[in-house]
Amino acid sequence: MTSNDSDYIYFFNHILQPACILNVAGEVLAWNNAMNALTDTSSEQALNQHLYTLGMIPNHLSQHWRYISQGGASSHSHLQIGDLFFEVDCIHLPNSNWALLLEPQKKSPTQADVLYTILHDLKNPLAAIKGYAELIGKIAEVNDMQQRYIGRIQAAIGDMQELIYSLLDVAWVDSGIALQKSSTNLSILINDLAGRHAERAQQRGVNLELKLSVVPEIPSDERRIKQVLNNLIGNAIKYTKPDGRVTVSTFEQNGGILVSVEDTGVGISEEYQEKIFQRFFRVPDSTTDKIEGTGLGLAISYEILKRHGVELKLESTPAKGSKFYFMMPLSN
Ligand code: ADP
Repeated sequence: MTSNDSDYIYFFNHILQPACILNVAGEVLAWNNAMNALTDTSSEQALNQHLYTLGMIPNHLSQHWRYISQGGASSHSHLQIGDLFFEVDCIHLPNSNWALLLEPQKKSPTQADVLYTILHDLKNPLAAIKGYAELIGKIAEVNDMQQRYIGRIQAAIGDMQELIYSLLDVAWVDSGIALQKSSTNLSILINDLAGRHAERAQQRGVNLELKLSVVPEIPSDERRIKQVLNNLIGNAIKYTKPDGRVTVSTFEQNGGILVSVEDTGVGISEEYQEKIFQRFFRVPDSTTDKIEGTGLGLAISYEILKRHGVELKLESTPAKGSKFYFMMPLSN
């Protein structure tokens, strides 16, 4: 080996791009450190082996190279393996061998990814503004008018935070991030949630009633299902007048668990029932116009259930009440 050869080998092993050299049969003649890191295969394991026998990435690369090598000329192309993107240089060497050089690419962020990041970054400064607004009243004497303005700042930031959390959920839905499933007992979950809503129901003079059966555990993304139930129960209380009733029930039926949230509230007329699951849709109604909301809760709930393979359904009669319900399967 000449000193030149050892320089080349040193260089080949230390470049950041994963690279290998193949003979015409597709057997590995050289395999650098970056290739080792990418494929979890050392050069000792790879040498003299067919590329396609060395795991998922080399197997895809081998198919790609076979296709390109038929043309006999060097080429530059793109390769996608699952979520991974590569630029691939296939270089036809003078002695008929081939060098393959990979350049891992970052997936270009989607609009939903960008939105998710921006919203996420907005949470901290908003929390800081809210915190400092609260501090002003504690560290200095403020008069009634100043206190009123501080209260308004805090309320406005509270509204912005609520909107940001809803938009974060929308971005989550659009980004297609996988569900995190675990065993969930829906009756226990609802019982815990109802405790949180009890005070607000009482303040509004709404009777919150639970009819929960003993049900088996089911696989679900518990945090997301909790969000759905939180929204349905919250809405039912919000859109029901004093002395009304909200009933949340679970029972096992036909290989699933039927969950329903029923109220004796304002109801939703037929013409709006189809639109109710669309983003930002709020029923135009003078009796509910003053009730605060974003029109995102039901759309997000609908999407979360859809991701579980479940449909959120509605039966409603204006001035009598609404029933939102869905059937969670016992297994995946
Ligand atoms: P928000 O309540 O924040 O406006 P949602 O997406 O949860 O957003 O609900 C969308 C709209 O559907 C509400 O604005 C309201 O008009 C209507 N709605 C939701 N739940 C009920 C309910 N239980 N009874 C009557 N109307 C409802």
